[in-house]
Amino acid sequence: MAEELKGFQQAAEDDDKPHEECGVFGIYGPGLDVARLTYYGLYALQHRGQESAGIAVGDGKAVHLQKGMGLVSEVFNHDSLNSFRGQVAAGHVRYSTTGASHPVNAQPLVFRYAGGMLGLAHNGNLTNTAELRSQLYANGSVFQSSTDSEVIVNLIARYSQSNLVEAIMKCMIDIKGSYSLVMLTEKNLIGVRDPFGIRPLCLGRRGDAWVLASESCALDAVHAELVRDVEPGEIIVINENGLTAHQALPARRRAHCIFEYIYVARADSRMDGYNVNQVRRAMGHQLAREYPAEADLVISVPDSGTAAARGFAEESGIPFEEGLMKNRYIGRTFIQPSQGARDLGVRMKLNPIRDVLAGKRVVVVDDSIVRGTTSGKIVSMLRECGVKEVHFCLSSPPIIYSCYYGIDTSNEDELIAAQKPLEEVRKYIGADGLHYLTLEGLFNVFGSGRDRFCAACFSGEYPVDVSKAQLNGKYVLE
Ligand code: SF4
Repeated sequence: MAEELKGFQQAAEDDDKPHEECGVFGIYGPGLDVARLTYYGLYALQHRGQESAGIAVGDGKAVHLQKGMGLVSEVFNHDSLNSFRGQVAAGHVRYSTTGASHPVNAQPLVFRYAGGMLGLAHNGNLTNTAELRSQLYANGSVFQSSTDSEVIVNLIARYSQSNLVEAIMKCMIDIKGSYSLVMLTEKNLIGVRDPFGIRPLCLGRRGDAWVLASESCALDAVHAELVRDVEPGEIIVINENGLTAHQALPARRRAHCIFEYIYVARADSRMDGYNVNQVRRAMGHQLAREYPAEADLVISVPDSGTAAARGFAEESGIPFEEGLMKNRYIGRTFIQPSQGARDLGVRMKLNPIRDVLAGKRVVVVDDSIVRGTTSGKIVSMLRECGVKEVHFCLSSPPIIYSCYYGIDTSNEDELIAAQKPLEEVRKYIGADGLHYLTLEGLFNVFGSGRDRFCAACFSGEYPVDVSKAQLNGKYVLE
């Protein structure tokens, strides 16, 4: 394994957070610099994946591709974008949930098939990959990458005797799990969302151009207006004839990932009718009602805990202060300290402001705990600053089940909440108090919309069947 990759994976372990899956973006805009607009869109989606980035451009005759390992700013430069002209583009940022972190797994995947050229960018995770891959192998298919996305590509090619929309529809009947897809051909932009709508996908408009993106913050980045979310089970095709929408599969019970609102999505995004920042604030209100702490200050673990911490402060009347300063320049290439000095890693990322905190009783609001290692280090740092009491409040219920739909929540034996009851977790992290938002409380935040969400990592109620191969250890084909 390359040293850089080791460093990255160590960094991922050290930040002790679930990991985002991928971000997708597409634009149909004759006359516009679609490659550069896709670059800006991917930049806005960088939080969804930092391992690789790619852009494919259709110029009416062919689909051209540039992709590589690293951040969007590392993969593309002025010259590479200038060499890339066309009318339609699709882009992808990736964090690997299925398939190794390797250049061949970077997306978009671009291939030739009987119907021409097709590029595909996938956000999500199929749950029947092993079965489909075996069937495709048996029928003579070949694979270049270890991603589940290549299964989609192979199925579409297999159905290529039909027109493209019908081929995609047939593919959707075969595949199970979560998928938001942005595809392009030489002349068409296509968006697809799984029948449960697990992963997000929205549609925007910029003048005569159409845009598809995982989150609306990417529409804002290219001055596009949010038109609507792509419906679960829907295929959208955009070309010189305009936009056509096909309800390919009947929408099932909606199961939007509730964890997008807690942690994954950017706070300035709007998703399936909810403003992420407002939802996080309401989670903070609910937390304060559930855990009426006696404290002097509310602080957040920046950035994803900040909106909920402000909400906690509003509801409780306890003042909000910035108590932990985040180093915003820690990146993928940060050289991790040795095992013995691992605390330094957290200290490099978060530094407590002693003058604000000394002698105070503090409520710390964070979004979630995975293994509990970072939370314990934060509590120790606060105590070293002279904090009198630390009450740790989480704007998510305990994560006790693995996610099979594209968020890397770790295996159940690594999830501290799956292994220890609340009181033991409190002692493990060294806090005076610990509270997880209740599942009931989380649903209350969404009012009557509670049956629209997947919350399987908290409840174990998986909306889409998960294959045995995946339950027996995450399915990874190297
Ligand atoms: Fe999201 Fe959790 Fe459902 Fe995975 S299991 S899709 S992280 S809510």
